[in-house]
Amino acid sequence: SEQLHAADPEVSAAIGAELARQRGTLEMIASENFAPLAVMQAQGSVLTNKYAEGYPGRRYYGGCEHVDVIERLAIDRVKGLFGAEAANVQPHSGAQANAAAMAALLEPGDTILGLDLAHGGHLTHGMRINFSGRLYTVAAYQVREDDHRIDMERVRDLAREHRPKLIVAGWSAYPRQLDFAAFRAIADEVGAYLMVDMAHFAGLVAAGLHPSPVPHSHVVTTTTHKTLGGPRGGVILSTQELAKKINSAVFPGQQGGPLEHVIAAKAVAFGMAARPEFAERQRRTLEGASILAARLLAEDSRDAGVSVLTGGTDVHLVLVDLRHSELDGQQAEDRLHQVGITVNRNAVPFDPRPPMVSSGVRIGTPALAARGFGAEEFHEVADIIATAFLPGFDDQVSAALRKRVQVLADRFPLYPAQELQPAQ
Ligand code: PLP
Repeated sequence: SEQLHAADPEVSAAIGAELARQRGTLEMIASENFAPLAVMQAQGSVLTNKYAEGYPGRRYYGGCEHVDVIERLAIDRVKGLFGAEAANVQPHSGAQANAAAMAALLEPGDTILGLDLAHGGHLTHGMRINFSGRLYTVAAYQVREDDHRIDMERVRDLAREHRPKLIVAGWSAYPRQLDFAAFRAIADEVGAYLMVDMAHFAGLVAAGLHPSPVPHSHVVTTTTHKTLGGPRGGVILSTQELAKKINSAVFPGQQGGPLEHVIAAKAVAFGMAARPEFAERQRRTLEGASILAARLLAEDSRDAGVSVLTGGTDVHLVLVDLRHSELDGQQAEDRLHQVGITVNRNAVPFDPRPPMVSSGVRIGTPALAARGFGAEEFHEVADIIATAFLPGFDDQVSAALRKRVQVLADRFPLYPAQELQPAQ
């Protein structure tokens, strides 16, 4: 059959260019990762052809005997990985996992209490024009102004005041661990469900390097493509008691046919996440983030007004605080882009600059850890980033830093060419 480069040279060329970009730059967007070849092979398989509405053993289509095997593998593996009673592996994305979980537990108009988007929460935790803000009544907690940490006393006060039916814990930009037991105690006190969205830190949990929200939560949602390193997609874990409600909220509540090719890739990723190499990679992910935070807190950075929110990190990302720097988030992102490092600017809580400019940068280490980086390479990356943020950055400095980036990229080849030949 016809190969992509022959069937569609335009799309093929753009994919080729993207592969070259991923290979030649250092990827430090905190929500990104490199899916292993085996994951991409499963995702690029004939399973994309199959309709399978329903669940294993209870499908609305014929010919589901093999996708049933695959979906059961994914369910059993993710339950084992996180010690969950029940799992739904069908959500097409993290946002859809959250939509379905909320639909299972809430009626439109019910109140949810989540972390403010501007303070590190996600769109689906109650942002005004997101489904979550449109369907539900939203109360939001924030981080403290002095130390940028979530104040559980404040969460409790808000919960008592607003009596939410659901409390959402979890974040897209927060560099510390959450106290899941404290969240659950507050939920119990006000009669709310506790949903933890562990999209960002699920890989750390799987590796045993971050406390698990599962024993404390009614529902845990996650994406499968961030620290977890699998295909783009979502998962909902729950107690057995809630499993039926969750399943019917996903299908037929929110979705039609499941993406069995993605579910196969999820199964592969869950299998890999149970191996010692995965835990070792998560260890390097954490080590890299700590090294980066420490470097950005050194004297030269401090003199330039560069700092790190909360004074460090417990997870896979660092939030650079540029409120006291002449450099803004946009400029910082542009400088790193120039030297071949990809990040995203990010508003920091209590940001004096407008959101499109912002005073922060979010920098994550999962993708580089997947590429093989260890302490030595993370020290080098950290120094490149810190230097790029100093005054005196000009074309000459930029070119020198770009060279250092290239050396690192060359030392850790991504997806060797022979591996990427189409499977026969
Ligand atoms: N939940 C959190 C905490 C996230 O950070 C994200 C992604 O940024 C999502 C959910 C949504 O995931 P997706 O982009 O797959 O819809």
